[in-house]
Amino acid sequence: MNIGIVGLGLIGGSLGLDLRGCGHRVLGVSRQQLTCDRAIEFGMVDDASIDLKLLAKVDVVFVCTPIAAIMPTVQYLIPYLGSQAVITDVASTKKAVVESVTPMWSHFVGGHPMAGTEQSGIDAAFSNLFANKPYILTPIETTPPDAVKIVQKLVQSLTTKVYICSPEDHDRAAAWVSHLPVMVSNSLIDACGRETNSVVLHLAQVIASSGFRDTSRVGGGNPELGMMMARYNKHSLLRSLGAYRQSLDQIIELVEQEDWQALEARLQQAKLERTEFVDPNKKYI
Ligand code: NAP
Repeated sequence: MNIGIVGLGLIGGSLGLDLRGCGHRVLGVSRQQLTCDRAIEFGMVDDASIDLKLLAKVDVVFVCTPIAAIMPTVQYLIPYLGSQAVITDVASTKKAVVESVTPMWSHFVGGHPMAGTEQSGIDAAFSNLFANKPYILTPIETTPPDAVKIVQKLVQSLTTKVYICSPEDHDRAAAWVSHLPVMVSNSLIDACGRETNSVVLHLAQVIASSGFRDTSRVGGGNPELGMMMARYNKHSLLRSLGAYRQSLDQIIELVEQEDWQALEARLQQAKLERTEFVDPNKKYI
């Protein structure tokens, strides 16, 4: 298959490596010529350009730009595409993207690989990023089933675990497990950095180990991506943040009241509930 990728960063570059690994011909477009040159050098694409014209003959295009650039990218891309070409995206939020792109191109299938790191840019891309990770597709009533099948088959070939749901459900669920954690993790780093005693602050920085590394990872990631998650999933994120604030207030209350029994029961409950989210044997589709 001839596949186009627009936006050769962490996600686009990683997709290029894996799709080429599956034997597809991959053509890449990015904003900077230097990125295009590196993509060719790293074997992520067969050819690359800063000009969308390069994608004139592709069967499927993955739009992997930052969220705000998706709609304008599709708009510029359309004049070059064959009428049967399928466009998909990888954006972390779905409702706003699906609602803006579908009226422009009916063969559009919203997508979101639940995979990433705190790094960004082409140098952060690597192969097998998506292996064994969830990959969500968000077709709507008008999405042609054939287009969904094409994208599903392609992403499944990267050994992802495909899950199909509505854009709205995606955004609510992603707010809980992806967008809220970014904001919580950011607050954690921010709060620690507010320690006013410089000796204590330095000591905390020195002794910070695996626990802090795990809990601060997503809050210390790509700032543009975190901002776009909030901007394009504002409603669901605010809902989750509100519930989180309530939950945090309850913990403060338990500690203030020295209700250690209730606190332990709560921690016990969370230990059980966590497995529902991180169980490696979860079922998909
Ligand atoms: P990234 O590493 O910053 O890559 C995006 C790349 O797109 C940039 O490096 C830039 O490349 C290029 N670009 C920017 N504007 C462009 C434009 N107008 N036209 C063409 N190329 C453009 O970001 P990412 O983490 O890969 O995220 C990309 C998309 O994946 C986002 O929509 C995000 O929501 C989604 N996503 C991210 C993650 C994650 O954990 N990072 C996970 C799942 C989905 P140059 O300027 O170097 O050419």
